[in-house]
Amino acid sequence: MTQLQAGTPGIKAVTTFESILKKPDVLRGAFNFGFEKPSAIQQRAILPILEGRDLIAQAQSGTGKTSMIALTVCEKVDIRTNEPQVLILSPTRELAQQTEKMIQALGEFIKIRAHCCIGGTSIGMDMRKLEAGVHAVSGTPGRVFDMIKRRSLRTREINLLVLDEADEMLNQGFKEQIYDVYRYLPPETQVVLVSATLPVEVLEMTNKFMNQPMKVMVKRDELTLEGIKQFFVAVEREEWKFDTLCDLYDTLTITQAVIFTNTKRKTDWLTEKMRAANFTVSSIHGDMPQKERDAIMAEFRSGTTRVLITTDIWSRGIDVQQVSLVINYDLPNNRELYIHRIGRSGRFGRKGVAINFVRHDDVRILRDIEQYYSTQIDEMPMNVADLI
Ligand code: ADP
Ligand code: MG
Repeated sequence: MTQLQAGTPGIKAVTTFESILKKPDVLRGAFNFGFEKPSAIQQRAILPILEGRDLIAQAQSGTGKTSMIALTVCEKVDIRTNEPQVLILSPTRELAQQTEKMIQALGEFIKIRAHCCIGGTSIGMDMRKLEAGVHAVSGTPGRVFDMIKRRSLRTREINLLVLDEADEMLNQGFKEQIYDVYRYLPPETQVVLVSATLPVEVLEMTNKFMNQPMKVMVKRDELTLEGIKQFFVAVEREEWKFDTLCDLYDTLTITQAVIFTNTKRKTDWLTEKMRAANFTVSSIHGDMPQKERDAIMAEFRSGTTRVLITTDIWSRGIDVQQVSLVINYDLPNNRELYIHRIGRSGRFGRKGVAINFVRHDDVRILRDIEQYYSTQIDEMPMNVADLI
């Protein structure tokens, strides 16, 4: 499907799950979930992680990195003990929840107990769940640290820390929180970093907390997926974006679409304006109560709603296979976000379309993205609906 450059020489690809997963009930879980053959990253990274190596795994969006974490967790934990053994940290609550669900699904037959530890939920409930005993914890750094300090999340038996969307987790906003958690883990804890994008600044700091990590990497110019067609619409001015979006509405609803803006306020504004114009849209951002976020995610995952307006809360890791169209109503603020946003479509080899709204003064940003990833972003054709 996709190319992987072996960062560390001599990495072997193991091409069947039978040769990777030693627990028959995890193998059964994978097949039952619809996984037949490991993806390129899964072929190369799962076994070294199971052997205990620190590892940095980079592969394109939607190629099974988070699923690989879930499989590895199921294979690695000893379910006879009641102690947490694996901690997975993610940048958003929705991604932490998705990973928890995936561990539960793949680990159904080993009866794994995974718990999601995120803000915006009942602290008392979190404490009770953790104290009752779980094998794996998937969470966001703030609540996880809180639970560790309260001693509800016992770290003594933790032997694997995974940072999904690792470059985001090691960014300014999160880095301190990650170190706070890390300091409470046993010193020999294995560390695994996973992301589609791993800029050099991030790779350079990994020697502080990783032990000669093995690297499975892709080159920058192979990061965009062939299955995702990228286009731009020259809207000239900000005011013209809205009409352009309305014109595209029928195309949006062919399957499911995600529309990115750069701020929560703009997401609210656009949602209201679309509704006032009688278009059905849903929206989600980080200032909404968690209950509401959960409900909106559930509706979108089930396909009840088809058009989601959002912020970069949705740019990383979220997997809804039916999404085949991504619109950048605003161009993202950095090159990495671009890759993550368009990667919400075209999951695991599916087709996808990304459409960028480009104002006159955005043209340079778009050209920069094009060059940086050696990719091509053409003017949107009339028949774009046929490509979805
Ligand atoms: P990534 O983290 O690389 O973006 P995910 O782990 O979220 O990718 O997987 C993307 C999609 O591909 C998910 O819907 C997942 O269920 C599916 N998937 C992952 N691994 C496999 C596999 N080996 N076979 C079939 N589908 C897979
Ligand atoms: Mg992922």
